[in-house]
Amino acid sequence: VAFAASIDGMAILDADGRYLFVNPAHARLYGFGHPDELVGRSWKVLYRGDELERIEREILPEVLSRGTWRGEATGCRRDGSTFEQELSLAAFPEGGGLVCVVRDIGDRKRAERLEHALYAIAETAHQASHLDEVYRSLHRIVGSLVPARNFYIAIHEPETGLLSFPYFVDEHEPPPGPQPLGRGLTEYVLRTGRPLLVDQEVYERLIATQEVEAVGPAMIDWIGVPLAISGQTMGVLTVQSYQPETRFSVADLDLLTFVSRQIAAAISRRRADEQIRQLAFQDTLTRLPNRAVFLERLESALARRGAEGAPVALLFLDLDRFKSINDSFSHEIGDRLLAAVAVRLRDALRQSDLLARFGGDEFTVLLGDLNEPREAGQVADRLLAALHSPFDVDGREIFVGASVGIAVSPYDGGDAGTLLRNADAAMYGAKSDDRGTSRYYSPDMNARTLELLSLESRLRRSLQQDELRIVYQPMLSLADGRVKGLEALLRWDRDGEEILPSTFVPVAENSGQIVEIGAWAFERACRELARLRARHGADLRLCFNLSPHELRPPGFLRRIADTVAGAGLPPGSVELEITESVALDDSESTREVLNDLRALGLRISIDDFGTGFSSLAALRRLPIDTLKLDQSFVRHLPAGSRESAIARAVIDLSHALGFQVVAEGVETREQFDFLLACGCDLAQGFLLARPGTIESAGDLLAAESQDAAIDVP
Ligand code: C2E
Ligand code: MG
Ligand code: MG
Repeated sequence: VAFAASIDGMAILDADGRYLFVNPAHARLYGFGHPDELVGRSWKVLYRGDELERIEREILPEVLSRGTWRGEATGCRRDGSTFEQELSLAAFPEGGGLVCVVRDIGDRKRAERLEHALYAIAETAHQASHLDEVYRSLHRIVGSLVPARNFYIAIHEPETGLLSFPYFVDEHEPPPGPQPLGRGLTEYVLRTGRPLLVDQEVYERLIATQEVEAVGPAMIDWIGVPLAISGQTMGVLTVQSYQPETRFSVADLDLLTFVSRQIAAAISRRRADEQIRQLAFQDTLTRLPNRAVFLERLESALARRGAEGAPVALLFLDLDRFKSINDSFSHEIGDRLLAAVAVRLRDALRQSDLLARFGGDEFTVLLGDLNEPREAGQVADRLLAALHSPFDVDGREIFVGASVGIAVSPYDGGDAGTLLRNADAAMYGAKSDDRGTSRYYSPDMNARTLELLSLESRLRRSLQQDELRIVYQPMLSLADGRVKGLEALLRWDRDGEEILPSTFVPVAENSGQIVEIGAWAFERACRELARLRARHGADLRLCFNLSPHELRPPGFLRRIADTVAGAGLPPGSVELEITESVALDDSESTREVLNDLRALGLRISIDDFGTGFSSLAALRRLPIDTLKLDQSFVRHLPAGSRESAIARAVIDLSHALGFQVVAEGVETREQFDFLLACGCDLAQGFLLARPGTIESAGDLLAAESQDAAIDVP
């Protein structure tokens, strides 16, 4: 009786392997209506192919010799479909047949596979070394869930609007190139944002209703699931079958839909990382390597060639009067001209020379395999000659000249910094002398160095003579327009002239004076902010820029803690800004300092994000509260769709990592609106408020407590 009522399938087989007795559950498991349909038949009708062979060759001999066997097997239902089962077999003594118990474990196995797949997706998102590898492992992972012999990922590229196929494996078709959106099944899923299982019937219906057009070879079944990130469909993942014996079910569709969110997150994170990295190494305008790449290559060339005692030449090329070209035409024309200049310069060089856009209208060239310093001058002349004929930009004829400075190691310096400085000085020499020429560096060319020297000695006295002051630039919440913080920025009034930090902070850093100046500025800013907070009852944040040189001296932490406490500021209201490159530079010791600052309750922010070459993934290891998007990012919003896409991704990812995001240098209403729509938290910029005295910041707060908030103009 127990036998008949059991929910497990149970059966008794005779010595020939024929069913003597079968319970109803057993018959049901294999898709039979009644036990009698199995009685008298061989067990071999319930297994198929390799599994049949395995049971005969391995399992049965073991049952007969040991008496029992228990394990997993794959059974075959009456309709030919298979199911995973747990199988227990026990032999009657003296070869008298078998008792067999069968349990369907399909659900449990599916759950296990699903869990494993989710884990594997997360792992590949973090550990794969590049995007191609991510796609390959996603294929493998999806293949563990459903038959995936034909598998592709389609991405709707935000920049171009094209549909691209970064991963495409198909029995019948080669990978297609990027293409405009058509009316295939992929586009249909992209359009509707809904998962879709297509068999012949569904396909014909979609075609008949003109929802889709037939493209590609005829298939048996097709599944497409949308890859969506925060509600936006960015692509489609597809598996398809051309074989009648490989069919897809609704269960398969559900599985893929279930994992698709995580797949989308993995792909979008890695794509954003990759774009940021590219952006960080390549100058977007000219597609030349940027300053960071150049410096790295220069250093390694110096190390390699220095060891051989061979020279390395550095050419520093600066366009003449580029600023006036930019001003008299337009920035777009200026940009296009720069791109055209880059092409001509590159064509004038050999493959082995490295040309980089160093900044603005400055280009640098590294000659890593010259025999004699003289050859550098010949290259410089070639470059100048290449610029000789006029450029045609938008039908305008524009003449551009340039000046080139040359420095050669080891004569003009053994390290990258010295060599660059000297090539730069030589370039200035060429410029002042006679535009459109090149010049080798010579030690008497030190006008600029002398200028720096005098700057340094004047700066040394600036503190005593009370020439330094601090201005404050408000930082506003995008959502409600209220002032949430003030960033302290140094100013130097020298002989009635206002000198900006870009001129004197590097000098102060080089000479070490930044430590003293920074300490003074921090002390003052803390006190002024504390007073402002007391007067306006506002929970304002003080943002303070720290130079890497300030982090190193012993006693730094003590001083910071004492200053904050002395001013009576809650530590959580002070945010220290470190530039991106510094944060990642010398990571071990920097990370320690940052951790210590955090432990004191201070906030840490990454300044100028987007100018160095970090990815968000790298920043994740640091204790960070806030990320400041550099103005170079913000400047192109929202017109440059590439920048917009990246900005949006950076903001999303930052939030996912728990960072607050501040946009720097917001100058237009369009930029403001775009950032607001992207969910950016805070903004600074001339549109909102220029840096001003502490009193002017106070006035702003006073006005704010009268009105609800500052009106964005
Ligand atoms: P930062 O920290 O990225 O500061 C933002 C800079 O952008 C400031 O320049 C600010 O005046 C400028 N700015 C703000 N909004 C806009 C805008 O809408 N458009 C444009 N074009 N510019 C905008 P500033 O004051 O010349 O400071 C330059 C850099 O000098 C700062 O960059 C910071 O890295 C450094 N610095 C300033 N004060 C200090 C200081 O006390 N200590 C240290 N170590 N560095 C400082
Ligand atoms: Mg800053
Ligand atoms: Mg900045």
